[in-house]
Amino acid sequence: RIGRLRGLSLRHVSSTRQASPIQRRSLNQFISRVQQHDQPALEQRQFRLAVKDNIATVSPNSEEETPLTTTCGSNFLASYRSPFEATIVTQLRSRGALLVGKTNLDEFGMGSHSVHTAFGAVAQEGEHEQQAVKHSAGGSSGGSAVAVATGEADLALGTDTGGSVRLPAAYTGVVGFKPSYGMLSRYGVVPYANSLDTVGLLAKEVRPIAELILGGADKVTRGLWAEHDPLDPTSLSHGARRRCANQRDCYTGPLPKDPYPLKNLKFGLPLEYNITELSPSIRHSWSAAAAKLQSLGARLVPVSLPSTRHALSAYYVIAPAEASSNLAKYDGIRYGTRFTSPTESDAAVLEGSEGQEEEGILYARARTAGFGDEVKRRILLGAYTLSSAAMDNYFLKAQKVRRLVRRDFNRVFALPNPLLDKPETFELSELPETVGLEDKWGPTEVDFLLCPTAPTTAPRLDEVLSEEEKDPVSAYMNDVFTVPASLAGLPAISVPMRVEDKEGAGMAGLQLIGQYWDDARLLAVAETVA
Ligand code: GLN
Repeated sequence: RIGRLRGLSLRHVSSTRQASPIQRRSLNQFISRVQQHDQPALEQRQFRLAVKDNIATVSPNSEEETPLTTTCGSNFLASYRSPFEATIVTQLRSRGALLVGKTNLDEFGMGSHSVHTAFGAVAQEGEHEQQAVKHSAGGSSGGSAVAVATGEADLALGTDTGGSVRLPAAYTGVVGFKPSYGMLSRYGVVPYANSLDTVGLLAKEVRPIAELILGGADKVTRGLWAEHDPLDPTSLSHGARRRCANQRDCYTGPLPKDPYPLKNLKFGLPLEYNITELSPSIRHSWSAAAAKLQSLGARLVPVSLPSTRHALSAYYVIAPAEASSNLAKYDGIRYGTRFTSPTESDAAVLEGSEGQEEEGILYARARTAGFGDEVKRRILLGAYTLSSAAMDNYFLKAQKVRRLVRRDFNRVFALPNPLLDKPETFELSELPETVGLEDKWGPTEVDFLLCPTAPTTAPRLDEVLSEEEKDPVSAYMNDVFTVPASLAGLPAISVPMRVEDKEGAGMAGLQLIGQYWDDARLLAVAETVA
């Protein structure tokens, strides 16, 4: 069996895979596994792929095999088998992917620790039996991250709406890439918050991800970034893709064999990311990483992104609002399991009714049994912020903050945002708290932003679970560094960063954020930085 992915040039995938004790203990990362049986001798470029269970799959690797379920980690879809396959899965298959299984997640992608799932929390286990303490694998793509970290998959698909690929990558010590919004097809990906949802990739190293996005050095395999999908209305058209790449003199690959030179690149260190909640060990490793880049010839400058501090609140208004609308279709009649057999109290309500109550009871029963607590919380939150009484104060304000977050980024990046016809003018005074900050703006014109992926290393799972009971929204804080890029639709990548603290050495994530459609250069640079 192949322990590590070397590029994507895997030649053989052995058929008889024996799970090691660590792997056996972490089986809860998988919702379903493809039965291992003899594969025909495999020609070049094959790799084992794990797919997050909110991405539609049909039969594992051939039509004779039993179709896999696509459960979204929800009771509602526990037995759902999609009649079609997500475009991204088909695209990866045509590039040599062998599906090894569907991975566990926070229900519909809502969560930061992969504990809100109908199939049992995902756990990250210590390397040795005696290190029995389980840690959070991050969420919501926790199963995908563990599948890569334990070597059970060479590459995994996740979805990143507000950090769900980058956070698990950081907690488990692997690479997690979120592309520019609209680059990878979302056809067949169960929507959570459409204006933010992206498909992301996880692997142990940057190169296999970069090769898939940019295309192989052989120039035979087309890079995924060139592929428009007519089935996804948010997939950028071929024309827009060309314009984005040509309008500016930006690097478009192929991935160089040697490390991409950092000389002459300017990295911004966003001042607002240095928050009190940032663990000292992560702050230390962040500056060490900055110093290392400097020694490789890069320039580092502090930059200010003043609306960052509002980004998290804006995200937790926008994402649940879109989610509540998306999830309205799960009524047990048109979508999802029905959860049948009327109860006696139902019968009392139904007496003399004209039939509408009957439907209402079905909906209520299905939604009560089908959704988990976190999803219900988001639906309530979203329905409230969209209600006529609260709309102006919440949803519309959040959209405003989102525009400001986007403008902050456009102001610091050297490359213009190719989606804008003309550069935006920026009035800092639009946010009252920023008055007086003008002189702290710092230089603009950076190539990338360099910051941690999350404020802490992976917390212990038992602590996560008890905190969830006391204060369910406390987990939202983990997303503070990942949501700004999501709100702006920018490409971002988390690469492993070693940290040393009281408990010894651990893993965290170092995040690089780039201008819209600068994904190719971001990946090339990330490879050097990692
Ligand atoms: N933790 C965030 C949330 O719960 C992000 C989730 C995601 O990116 N899918 O919304």
